[in-house]
Amino acid sequence: MRINPRRARGEWRRSFRVDLIQFLLNPPGMNSPKRIYILLVLAAALFIPVLSRSEVNKSEAVAPDIYFHEGDLSGKGHCNNGWIVFEDYVLVIDGNFPSGAQEIIPKIRAITNKPIRFVFDTHHHGDHAYGNQVWVDNGAVPVAHTGVIDEMKKYETSFYGNTPGRWEDAAKGRKDVAASKLKPPTLLFRKDMIFDDGKHRVELLHFGVAHTQGDGFAWLPKEKIVFTGDACVNGPYNFVGDGNTEQWIQTLEAVKKLGAKTVCPGHGPMGTAQILEDQQSYFIELRKQVKKLVDAGKKPEEVKAAVGDIKAALQKQERIARYIGDFLGAQVEKVFVEMGGKPFQSVSAAFDDHKHHAGAHGGTLTSGRSVVKARLMGVRPGR
Ligand SMILES: [Zn+2]
Repeated sequence: MRINPRRARGEWRRSFRVDLIQFLLNPPGMNSPKRIYILLVLAAALFIPVLSRSEVNKSEAVAPDIYFHEGDLSGKGHCNNGWIVFEDYVLVIDGNFPSGAQEIIPKIRAITNKPIRFVFDTHHHGDHAYGNQVWVDNGAVPVAHTGVIDEMKKYETSFYGNTPGRWEDAAKGRKDVAASKLKPPTLLFRKDMIFDDGKHRVELLHFGVAHTQGDGFAWLPKEKIVFTGDACVNGPYNFVGDGNTEQWIQTLEAVKKLGAKTVCPGHGPMGTAQILEDQQSYFIELRKQVKKLVDAGKKPEEVKAAVGDIKAALQKQERIARYIGDFLGAQVEKVFVEMGGKPFQSVSAAFDDHKHHAGAHGGTLTSGRSVVKARLMGVRPGR
């Protein structure tokens, strides 16, 4: 059995809270106004950090009729989901993997019996779109930016008539994918698509290239909530192979201008607009580090050898340190290539094409999380 550290931390926090509250309710030798005051101060201190982060696999009401669900990434490769209960139907954010969709549907059903009419794929990756068929079987229509179809045409080569592609690779490692089938979105938008019943409004928007060529955002102007897909994550989950980091920074700049107060990322806990800021800073700082090496005329092997130093430099910056993870080597390489460098030989396939087996190339893509993420990207890990 896997132990989820975040959950373990959560349990510890809960039991500590219970002990403390019991102590506060019955402290030795303290009068009651003083006791109540201390109780209030400490309760606020203990609960505020909890409110600011979600719990994996638990639906959370972000605002009336609007929900966020942090998926179990480390255990099942699931992405985060959201859903909005409109007057006549439910709109879901992200199709997830088939097993993720199967997990979410009963949770929506526990809240409302309105039909689930639409599922919005924020992008084409397996952990956000491979569950589409499950949603269709439950009466929904998959919706996406036209770029999602363009990306699927590139990578889902079996569906579009040629050799096995990402779906087939993912199916080798995931029973839920093997038991389902690819269902590309059938309702598409080029610039935006709006759902508005007078009470709730959701704008599906595209701002340009970021995590992929077809990233879509769900913006709720009334509540100032944005669902970002993987164009913004909250933790070390940035897969850069299908996007462009320079344009990613520009796209995030446009997203920031929406003025969101709550950001529901594609992976990791939800939070405030600070997440958008931090995600953007991560790429800015990463690019600065690589640029220094490019300007100094470093060769691919020298840049590869400098990954440790880049890691140390980025780690010093508290606000972005949480973005550093097993993908760093591939991220450095991607930026280096974007700046005109050549791929590092030994890891080039890690981001080159997902038909390749990233794990087999070792180096930066061998730890557990990368294997999970590689699998959810449709890459078959080499172990
Ligand atoms: Zn993704």
